[in-house]
Amino acid sequence: MARADNAPRSFKCRQCGTIFTARGETGTCPICGCECRAGECAMLEASDEGY
Ligand SMILES: [Zn+2]
Repeated sequence: MARADNAPRSFKCRQCGTIFTARGETGTCPICGCECRAGECAMLEASDEGY
């Protein structure tokens, strides 16, 4: 049961520094379109607050 795989994560774009939320291990920056992957962009663990 890999229920944590779809948890939203926050990426910090390595190009423009925008912080955005994406699912999974990759995400596309909404500002510059840079593709962020785990290990390339800084990843911030989404906290449990909110739900
Ligand atoms: Zn960007």
